[in-house]
Amino acid sequence: MDTSFNHLTRRNFVKCLAAGSISVPILMKGLMQNLMAAELDTRPPIIWLKGQTSGIHSAGIWNFPEFPGFLDRFFRIMPPSDINRDFLQSDDSEVASSHILILEGLFTDDPDDILNALIKDFVVVSRVVILLGNDAAYGKHVPEGFMDTERNLLHHVETPYLKLPGAPAHPRHLLGVLNHLVLYGLPELDIFRRPALFFSDNICERCEYRSDFETGHFVRYHGEKEGCLYLLGCKGPVTKNTCPIEKWNGTSSWCVAVGSPCTGCSEPAYPVHGGLGMYGQLSSRDASINSFFVRHLETIAKGTAVLTAAGIATHAISKRASSPIKGQRMPTLEDEDE
Ligand code: SF4
Ligand code: SF4
Repeated sequence: MDTSFNHLTRRNFVKCLAAGSISVPILMKGLMQNLMAAELDTRPPIIWLKGQTSGIHSAGIWNFPEFPGFLDRFFRIMPPSDINRDFLQSDDSEVASSHILILEGLFTDDPDDILNALIKDFVVVSRVVILLGNDAAYGKHVPEGFMDTERNLLHHVETPYLKLPGAPAHPRHLLGVLNHLVLYGLPELDIFRRPALFFSDNICERCEYRSDFETGHFVRYHGEKEGCLYLLGCKGPVTKNTCPIEKWNGTSSWCVAVGSPCTGCSEPAYPVHGGLGMYGQLSSRDASINSFFVRHLETIAKGTAVLTAAGIATHAISKRASSPIKGQRMPTLEDEDE
């Protein structure tokens, strides 16, 4: 089977990737074939520097059992303790100067630390830099003693870079971007420098509960089985990512499908979301929802906050809610004319 993707035009490759119709194993094979075709397999041309990290990105990678073995074989994954000047000055300097550099986590800002200088040198000689995961991509809450990766390493150099955010970042995003880089160069980026092919559509647009969202069929409490999770604080309306089609755990499921609202983990606003937090409900205006039901939900929610405190679940329009909560009137079409 030809998995080199050479038979695909760039447009079709991007379309297939965006639609989620190329699996992780196929992306791995494609990358392998193209790396080998470029005769760069003797020394992996992809260098992955891991800084201080929670390891959350590894969690995403372990979701796909084939991935770690593939990484070991074709990537040069280096913890800070292994980073040294020898690699930059080795006989393989041609390879070193054409490598794709992945930066994950946070790195020291101590100018006297050899690691600090080496990373700057690595960035300058790289063909392209990928900032993997939220720490590297967004640089928020950087603790004392560490760099904001983008501002301190990339703003003042010509090396192109892109971001693959998320908690965790999705392995398919990494593989898709690497394939694109090898075959066609830098993909189109959005305003946050994320690849547009993965970060163009809101989660809601491809969510299985989209019709529930529009028709006002909302889940009222955690554990209720069917319906849209908007009332539980789902950030799907303001989050661009591919989770509904790519899923997690080896493509078996994703957050909303198992009843957990999307927390917008790949957005720059995560986890604060303008003060709402991960589970605060978006206003209908922020969610840009043109729905009669949702326009009235904020009114309903104000009343239900008191009821919820008393142990009564949030009130909403739902097949499971056979009648409105006593004493509270549901919106009617006449309300629209007021
Ligand atoms: S708000 Fe959440 S659950 Fe509802 S349609 Fe959007 S992504 Fe799906
Ligand atoms: S559904 Fe939302 S919270 Fe879940 S992984 Fe995707 S972007 Fe993150």
